[in-house]
Amino acid sequence: MKPDSRALRAIVFDLDNTLLRSRIGARQGLLVAAKLIATELKKNGYSYSYLNLFKRLQHIDREMLGRKFLYNRDVWWKTLLHELGIETHFPWIHRITLRYWHTYQSDSPPFRDAEQTVRRIKQMGLKIGMVSDFDGTPGMKRKRIRDVRFHRLFEAIVVSGEDTPRVKPGHESFRLVAKKLRVQPRSCIYVGDNPRTDIAGAEAVGMRTVIVRRKNNQFGNPTYRIPRLRALPPLVRSMRQFRG
Ligand SMILES: [Mg+2]
Repeated sequence: MKPDSRALRAIVFDLDNTLLRSRIGARQGLLVAAKLIATELKKNGYSYSYLNLFKRLQHIDREMLGRKFLYNRDVWWKTLLHELGIETHFPWIHRITLRYWHTYQSDSPPFRDAEQTVRRIKQMGLKIGMVSDFDGTPGMKRKRIRDVRFHRLFEAIVVSGEDTPRVKPGHESFRLVAKKLRVQPRSCIYVGDNPRTDIAGAEAVGMRTVIVRRKNNQFGNPTYRIPRLRALPPLVRSMRQFRG
């Protein structure tokens, strides 16, 4: 662990797969979308099994989240239809997106140590913020955040790509959350699960970074790595002890 003498004033969290178990919700959401699309296509005379559509959607999901940073689910379903060679206008596309998010949300409960970790950090006298990416549907991310039962613990929330011009790893949202918390970015630590989106932007404005171990994620090269969220308060405590 690298010693660091900068004063620490705030911890800023990512939401999906850091505080919420979003991998299950994301999978269930895609499954619901595949079933609905199969049903709608059938009404229009096309016959596809929902499992076939689900597999294609899983591939599109990986492309959009992992490489293209395109989060508007309407675009995902249109991409699927385009791949199938179906170019007709389908007015039901956005309804699928709303059903997808409904399922995603109800199947993405907080990790068991999430609320307790955030409370402990707060009890240590630190400010608490959140930077989370736009979901591609206006207002959706804020709605999902409001439905997290401990969302009131967060003193500043920034939705990247909605409150700022760019999604993560664009650096604007990290600067903005520090401004809202009234602290210097260099006095903040950003905690996330995804090295592709959760390190570069935060470090560009001077924040230190923590990547938490999640199933199948990679650590990348953050300032600190932790095996689970509840390892965060001891890490913070040791950093403060080092300062004396
Ligand atoms: Mg995440």
